[in-house]
Amino acid sequence: MQPQIEVGVLGATGMVGQHFVKFLQGHPWFKLTWVGASDRSAGKKYREATAWRLAGQMPAEVAELTVSDCKPGNAPKLVFSATDASVATEIEQAFANAGHTVVSNSRNHRMDADVPLLVPELNADHLGILPAQRAKRGWSGAIVTNPNCSTIVLTMALGPLKQFGIQRVLVTTMQAISGAGYPGVPSMDITANVVPYIGGEEEKMQIETQKILGDFTGGELRALEAKVSAHCNRVPVVDGHLAATSVEFSSKVKAEDLIAAFDTFTAMPQQLNLPSAPKRPVIYMPAADRPQPRRDAERENGMACFVGRVRECPVFDFKFIALGHNTVRGAAGAAVLNAELMQAQGLL
Ligand code: NAP
Repeated sequence: MQPQIEVGVLGATGMVGQHFVKFLQGHPWFKLTWVGASDRSAGKKYREATAWRLAGQMPAEVAELTVSDCKPGNAPKLVFSATDASVATEIEQAFANAGHTVVSNSRNHRMDADVPLLVPELNADHLGILPAQRAKRGWSGAIVTNPNCSTIVLTMALGPLKQFGIQRVLVTTMQAISGAGYPGVPSMDITANVVPYIGGEEEKMQIETQKILGDFTGGELRALEAKVSAHCNRVPVVDGHLAATSVEFSSKVKAEDLIAAFDTFTAMPQQLNLPSAPKRPVIYMPAADRPQPRRDAERENGMACFVGRVRECPVFDFKFIALGHNTVRGAAGAAVLNAELMQAQGLL
């Protein structure tokens, strides 16, 4: 047995930070030994600084940790970042500069040309940009990011279809309220209602998808040229984002080809048997009314993407529905899988 690697969480007291704390509990490779937050929390015990909002109890061994301020120094070499977006740019850069590997869930660096926007099943080779990142920025550490919680659902569904030549994508999301953090969307807005606007979300989905599905040329990360158009909606669902998707391809394909591509899709996390990797990253559900957030999002520990209803589209070529767990595969679980891939590849 390898000794566990000590890890820290920046922004550990917040909503996403709590998801990291929960997801890392009992992790076979990583041991959470350090938590960072703002000056308001620094110096307090984690249990005093944190209003725990997740189901189940705060892990006892984390509750007694003393919160540090988010400055590099005594933090472990590997840190996960869930800091507030207003401060994440400077904090993450300071840690990378000081030699830390920052595996971030924040949006701040996702679209930087030299930062991988990593989905281990889709673009593990994008980690090849890290030497250029270090050289350009003069960092001994690094920053690696994971996508927005709706983007990851769309890209995991599109990944197996890239072989057919994706030309145009039209996606309409139905996004859970947990994606809005705490206190999130006012109850008077979301109860028995749909809010057809999530600030910045459509733009993020469009450009992040192109970057993730793009290629690492050896010198740069080149975005996929496909056009992506997103409509993002908040719906009264607790966990699980749905993405109703239409796609046009450059090659002639049949519905069976798409279903076979979903069914047979496997990638590096599965081959390396990474601890958080789902056995099958994309699961096609043949029932006419699946996947559904309440019934399916938690399956496979929330780490898989569920796809259903593949059928012809009179405007594009095909349409289908995709589902993913927004706070697991869309946040903490995605970042932890990224770090597992880096560890397995000797990059930590
Ligand atoms: P949150 O609940 O408000 O938590 C923010 C965290 O940042 C807290 O730990 C807070 O510490 C800390 N913080 C605030 N100001 C700070 C400062 N000046 N210096 C150091 N730490 C500071 O926010 P959240 O909902 O968890 O979101 C956190 C991040 O995750 C954001 O960047 C957000 O964009 C991103 N996010 C991503 C997804 C996704 O799609 N993957 C989903 C939701 C959120 P205190 O408790 O001490 O204030």
